[in-house]
Parts: sequence; C-alpha cells; structure tokens
Amino acid sequence: MNWFGAAYYPEHWPRERWKEDARMMAYLGINVVRIGEFSWSVVEKSPGDIDFSLLDEAIEVIYSEGIRVIMGTPTCTPPPWLVKRYPEILQVDRDGLTINAGSRRHYCFNSQVYREETIRIVKAYVEHYGRDPRVIAWQADNEYGCHNSTVCYCENCAIAFREWLKKRYGTLDRLNQRWGTVFWSQVYRDWDEIDPPRRSLSSPNPSLMLDYRRFSSDSVLEYHILQRDIIKKGSRAPLTHNFMVNFTEIDYKKMAEKVDFVSWDNYVMTDYDPDLQALNHDLMRSLKKSSFLVMEQQPGRVNWRVVNEAYPPEQMAFWIKQSMAHGAFGSLVFRFRQLPFGAEQFHSGLLNYDGSTTERAKAFAETVKELRNWKIDRLKKEAAIYIDYENFWIGETDNLNGNFNLLQDGILPLYKTIRSFGYNVDFLFPGDSPSGYSFVCIPSAFKLDPEFLEALQEFEGKIFITAMTSQKDENNNVRLQDNDSFKRLTGIRIIDAAGIKNPVRISFGKDEYIGGFVIEALELTDGCEEMAVYLEGPFKGKPAIVKKGRCYYLSTVGDIELFKELFELAGIKRMANGSARVLRTESNMVLLNPFPYNIRILIDGVVHNLREYEVKVVLPQRI
Ligand SMILES: [Zn+2]
Repeated sequence: MNWFGAAYYPEHWPRERWKEDARMMAYLGINVVRIGEFSWSVVEKSPGDIDFSLLDEAIEVIYSEGIRVIMGTPTCTPPPWLVKRYPEILQVDRDGLTINAGSRRHYCFNSQVYREETIRIVKAYVEHYGRDPRVIAWQADNEYGCHNSTVCYCENCAIAFREWLKKRYGTLDRLNQRWGTVFWSQVYRDWDEIDPPRRSLSSPNPSLMLDYRRFSSDSVLEYHILQRDIIKKGSRAPLTHNFMVNFTEIDYKKMAEKVDFVSWDNYVMTDYDPDLQALNHDLMRSLKKSSFLVMEQQPGRVNWRVVNEAYPPEQMAFWIKQSMAHGAFGSLVFRFRQLPFGAEQFHSGLLNYDGSTTERAKAFAETVKELRNWKIDRLKKEAAIYIDYENFWIGETDNLNGNFNLLQDGILPLYKTIRSFGYNVDFLFPGDSPSGYSFVCIPSAFKLDPEFLEALQEFEGKIFITAMTSQKDENNNVRLQDNDSFKRLTGIRIIDAAGIKNPVRISFGKDEYIGGFVIEALELTDGCEEMAVYLEGPFKGKPAIVKKGRCYYLSTVGDIELFKELFELAGIKRMANGSARVLRTESNMVLLNPFPYNIRILIDGVVHNLREYEVKVVLPQRI
C-alpha cells in the first residue's frame, strides 16, 4: 500500500486536540505522519533530562486510528541551552562571521562536540523507538544543507579539511603540483598553511575551491553516517533523509548510498515549471534506481518566498499524482495544520489555523482514494542525461560565463526537449553505464568521468554533447593535452572558447537558431562533419554543431528550439505530439496535464484528451 500523510507536530497543539487531529487524518486517508524532527527542546527540556512522554502519548493517539509514524531525529534544531553551553558548534561563514542560533541548521558538521551531542540524542531516540512497530521509517536530521549550510569556514572545518587533504594527496608536493600552487606564489610547505577558501580579495585557487566543496559534501555524509549507524543498529525500520529540490551542494548520489530509500521535499522554488518538478522526481528516482517518497509536498502557499502565491487544490492533487507517475511510492503533505506562531506562519496546510478542513484537504482525500493502490510499473529505459554533482561545483568556480547555471541553463532545456518528444528520462552518474538507452545527453559536463567516456565509445545509441564538456580535470584545471578519448568520440579539438553576453545566431537546417553563454571554435578531425555554423560573433563562419557517427557536438549552450531541430535532424523519432506529458512503463502509459485547461496529445496516431490537471493511465489495448 502506498504511503499518504503529512508532517505533524503534536508539540504545537494542546493534548486535548490530538484525538480530533488523528480522526481527521484517518478521515482524509492518511496512513503515515512524520513527527519528531524538530522536537529536541521538548524531549530534553534541560541537559540530560530526556522525557519522551509527549511523543509517546501522541503516537498512541495517532496509532489508535491505524496511522503509523516516520520518526525524525531532532538534530536540525539544537536547543538554545545546548548552543549557550557549546557555542563552538556554530557555523562560521566565508567572511568569518559566526552564524547565530535562532532559526535552524546552525551547527557545524565537523564540530566534535556537536557530533558527540548528536550521538547522545540519536541514541536516546533509537533506544526509545527502535523496536516500536508503529515507527515504520526513520528520517535522519532534516534537509541537510538547507539555508546554505553545507559549507562552513570555521576552525574545526579548517583542521578537518587538512586531514581530508592528507588522505587525498598523501604529500604536499603532490598537492602543490595538482593544485598549481606555483601560481600567485601559493606553494605550501606545511599542511597548517592551508585554509578554507575564506573571503579574499580575488578568486581563490580553483582546485582548492573544488576540493573544499568535495570536503564539505563529504563532511555532511560523515555526519549522516554517525546517525545512520546508530539507527541501523537499533532499529529494523528503513532509514531515509529528506533531499531538496534543485539542490546541488551535497553529492546526492553518494548520500543516496547511505539511506535505505530516497525521499525529497517537493516545493516550487520560484515560477512554477512542471518539467522542473518532474526533472527533480526523475533525478530522485535515478539516484538509487528505485522508488522514492515525497516527504514534504507543498500543499499551496509557502511562507519563504518573497511573494507567497496561492495554488489551487487541483494543482496540489496534480503534484501528488505527478510524483507517483514518476516513481514515488507515497506523498506526505507539509504540513497537516497551519500554525499561527513561529517562523512559518503563512505556510498553508491541509487544515486551517482553527483546525477546520480546507479545500486542499478535500482534494487530498480524493487523490488518496484514487491513488491508494495505484501502482505504476517500472518506467522504461528510454533516454538518459549524464550528471556529476562535482560539475555543479566546478561551474561555480573559474569559468567562461558566470551567469551560466548548469541545472537551469544546461540540463533543463535538454530535459524539456526530450520530454516533449515523449521519452522517459533517467539520470546517469559517474560509474553508470549508458547501455540500454536509445540516446544519451551530456550537457556541459565540465569534467567527464573517464569510465563513462569509455562506455560511450561502445554505446550504440545516439549521443548529444554540449559545450564545455570534458574541459576540466579532477583538479578543476583545464585539460588541453590529454583529451584523446574525447577527441576520438566527438571528432573535435577545441582551439578557442569565449563567454558571450548576448546569444549568437546560428545557421542550422532550414532556419536560424541561437546559442548562448559560451561559444567554442572547433577544429574538425577526419570523419567529423559540420551541421551548423555561427552567423555572427567572434567565431563567425566556424562550425557550431558537428557530427561524428552517432555523436553530435554543440559548441555552445542550446535552447529548446535548437535541440528540437537537432533531434529531428539526428533522426530521434517523436513518440508524442502535444503539450501533455507522457511516461511509459512496460505495460501502460501515463498521460499528464500540468495545466489549468483542457489539452490533447497525439500518440501513435491516437488523440487523447485530458481535462485540466488530469493524470490518467492508459492501457495498451486502448492505445
Ligand atoms: Zn565548521
């Protein structure tokens, strides 16, 4: 049975209300609630005085309606007494300013004191709830890295960074050589001379910056493993952590290996784009190549945007169905009831401030009824996009165009184009194999995994690669001399490159298109043919798109229109026509209309009509 529910905070409401809340949950079709993740100061009111009676009573009331719980460990919000006692746990920012307590996530992942406090409190939760059958899963901490908390610049981190570097490089000579510290007289003669990339007048060493991002991501993993080991030792219930939307500061591929299932928080960050939310679902499914949970589903308005817009209940229902269609096994709304106090006062919930039901609650209940036993088979392997989390970090250091955002500008337009052609998308990571896919896209992968590159040489499908791919090495240095396998695959050598302020026109097929952000001047080797040329700019007349065998290389950053033409000319067959989205499984198709109006889609010669926000499963015999 799928999991449907909400985040519930019994500590926010009087005990006498809990029974009514639990009845209401059951009435709405909720079978699981997440609790506990911000409960530290309620459970341990003063140091060592641990008392679970509030959570115990709440769980009993909730379970009396047959509802189980996902238990969150409370480490995201260390209580005020702990911070006063151990101020050294606080994070320090790039400017050297200590991050104050007062909201959440203010602890440093490398603080030994906080690690010890974490072990103590997580052990207490696990000893108390580890064998409780009403606890069906654990969530370690909450949204690691939220509010830019992944990277800390404190002295604890500086010490831990040096140890991390010693393990990675062994000797200082090697580090100096790999980092090119001879530039700007940065040669180190003692490990203690290496500091985090704190604020400096100009750019720090790019190799140091990339390593600091790796170290910061690894620090979160190391901290998480502390919790994982305690939870796994004391409980048989599966462990997860709630990942975030569009979030690239932690290597989620590595993090996914440290949880039993991936869950994530599905929020609209700025302007709503159904494909961007779908991209995140596909990414989350791809991390473990497995079904995932939406741990927090935005129900409508949030409180943390500049303008907190409303969304109709039908749209929330669509979001839940969309997540299930992309591979979720459940969805929990954040939050059950709106709260009149605290920092999220204007965040909407299923229940209103006064505890009455909302239109959203009704839409949720109807959706749950429809989806309770909904099971979508595994999505077919069709198209794939290559992602390496380290490339997001490289993209934020030394590059040709500081306005280029790898996710939004590099990956999203390709994703949208593939989806508009009616293909499912999986994401592939370093170490994965492209085999079995019809085609693979590699959008601006600054650093390309050598194993993946080798696998591409054998790959029989089509390959689409965009500018800046394989430009950088492991140390974030430019590769010029040692890119032979890339040259063998693409048939090109990059002889010059530049950032561009404005898009440039390209003559391609029967029409003109535009390229943006960067352009490259290519030298073509034998077997590589020109498909498009620049009509303007510094590389006017030079090839913009080239082809060698099954491999297409675009020497700029394309938009959807350009990619559509490229796919057409490359012979990628359109599997669907129209503005609906389609997903294919082994046994059926799911059609999705993310819009507030009726639309139609043409698939295999059959027109399907979809009402506003409709999601429907179409069986093959009806195609
Ligand atoms: Zn720190």
